[in-house]
Amino acid sequence: MAQLTKLRRGRYEHPFLPISRADLDARGWDACDIIIISGDAYVDHPAFGPPLIARFLEGRGFKVGFIAQPDWRSIDDFRTLGKPRLFFGIAAGNMDSMLNRLTAQKKNRGEDQYSPGGERDRRPDRATIVYANRAREAYPDVPIVLGGIEASLRRIAHYDYWSDTVRRSILLDAKADLLVFGMGERPIWEIASRLKNGESIDQLRDVRGTAFPVGKREADTIAAQASERVSDGRVVVMPSYDEVRSDRHKYALASRTLHFETNPYNARPLLQRDRWDGSGVYFNPPALPLDTAWMDELYDLPFNRAPHPIYNDAPVPAFETVKHSLVIMRGCFGGCTFCSITEHEGRVIQNRSADSVLRELRAMRRMEDFRGTVSDLGGPTANMYQMRCESEKFESKCRRLSCVHPTICEHLETDHGPLIDLMKKVRAEEGVKHVHIASGVRTDLVVDGDRGQEYLEELTRHHVGGQLSVAPEHVSDDTLKLMKKPGIESYDRFTEQFRCASQAAGKDQYLVPYFISGHPGSKLEDMIELALYLKRKGYRPRQVQDFIPTPMSLAATMYHTGIDPITMKPCYTARGLKEKKLQKALLLYWNPEQHDLVREALTLAGRTDLIGNGPECLVPPAPRRPPTRAPKPAPRRPLHKRRAS
Ligand code: SF4
Repeated sequence: MAQLTKLRRGRYEHPFLPISRADLDARGWDACDIIIISGDAYVDHPAFGPPLIARFLEGRGFKVGFIAQPDWRSIDDFRTLGKPRLFFGIAAGNMDSMLNRLTAQKKNRGEDQYSPGGERDRRPDRATIVYANRAREAYPDVPIVLGGIEASLRRIAHYDYWSDTVRRSILLDAKADLLVFGMGERPIWEIASRLKNGESIDQLRDVRGTAFPVGKREADTIAAQASERVSDGRVVVMPSYDEVRSDRHKYALASRTLHFETNPYNARPLLQRDRWDGSGVYFNPPALPLDTAWMDELYDLPFNRAPHPIYNDAPVPAFETVKHSLVIMRGCFGGCTFCSITEHEGRVIQNRSADSVLRELRAMRRMEDFRGTVSDLGGPTANMYQMRCESEKFESKCRRLSCVHPTICEHLETDHGPLIDLMKKVRAEEGVKHVHIASGVRTDLVVDGDRGQEYLEELTRHHVGGQLSVAPEHVSDDTLKLMKKPGIESYDRFTEQFRCASQAAGKDQYLVPYFISGHPGSKLEDMIELALYLKRKGYRPRQVQDFIPTPMSLAATMYHTGIDPITMKPCYTARGLKEKKLQKALLLYWNPEQHDLVREALTLAGRTDLIGNGPECLVPPAPRRPPTRAPKPAPRRPLHKRRAS
């Protein structure tokens, strides 16, 4: 009821979705059709996945309730809104719950960015599994549909960095009925509509972008139709969970197959058996990408662009970061192996229209604290807006994992023109003073893409708030190849162009390059090469990324197996936490707090020549510590006195 009172006072433009029995009564509902459960705080903003899906279903006529960060220690919170008519939709939130809590060194993070006040411990580890099991206990006969990034990237047997084990599909541990992977709108709409029209959850066997558990008999029937031939388009039987768990080579093979079956225009269904009993999981091909009409529909939904009032204005850190930003597209065709965006959002760029972006900007202008600065105009990558494969014929057959690596594909349309037009339109809006680009710029597209130079001029003249984030990630060719990133010379060309363009614009601004330590392929020697590069260029990165093998990424496969799954050749990987720490320290060689570790790394690599005070050295010699004196022995009592005592 409290939320409706606030609405009457006019603070929020739209009613929030019901979160309590009182909210249902206020709407005159006896029950919800669908209840979405999320591990994040309820923030009514399109950057938050579960609320976006909830608003989307509401917009399509369903009665949707929302349970945020329920107490998982009992089933009470899972019964707050009663029993849903169609299903529970369950997500861990915008991030994998393990990644959300733990760092690369497996230590607790300082705060939970997706909780009010940044509070930790508001969600369990492996939240998807825990929530699904509680929801099942609360209402055993209600179908459970998993979604969100945690479920999506753990849908198949996968390496889990935090437990250092291979885990089976999350669908089986959660004992759920269906799992939606990738972008959820199309599958969730089909699931909701078909259930509403009377089909049972067990009949939903052909929804693109979903996976479901199969018993032995069904798995046998499916396996009998399998074919090795790509052109047949028939189901592919993957190595089983048992096989990938015990055999690293088979794990790498399974990862390879999975990644080559991600193009929605030619991907085949997959079957992975679980254990000795022959049951398993069946994966339909991925959902088709959203066209502009779908994308616009999503961003036109009635968001309050605010956290729910139950949080009493305690800031949700992730919301504070994105509240004045505009997402203009989804997807990424970069295919960087350490990143899961291509796997989760897809390789096809899904664009909003300029009108839709401007409508959202006008809604943002109505926010109390908007002062005219758009903090970001971007998406997974800043400059892929409206870029696409020029030919449906090639795209429908293509099995490349990246459109830009090892070189930019000749069929990729790289015109920056539509983005330049959009940037101009956003700048021209009344009440807008600054429009920053905070998303990472794909520098090779700027250097070699169509109208890249014009884009750079526009960018440097109007959109760099003093500094621009770019991600060369490394300097070593071998490591960059494994990452599927362009060589450092491409980045160097970009820095020169950026410097000239900034000078021409009369702006004193600089690049903030991001680098990763500990990535597969990267040895101590490579990190020393990188540290020397940083020193030569005068960079002192303050934020560095210690590589985390996130579920389902190709780099996680390299980390776990020591095999590059694309070439099936061995590759080096720093597996111990100590070596990861030493690699990270080399990126921070200039920081006195890291000097002991840097000296240790240089000594281990046989590069003590870089310890010293010379101009080429990375760190000074260890300070001479005063020799530790042995404590003075207590004066011995004269023998005669000892005897006397
Ligand atoms: S043909 Fe080229 S541009 Fe088209 S999808 Fe394949 S890699 Fe991308």
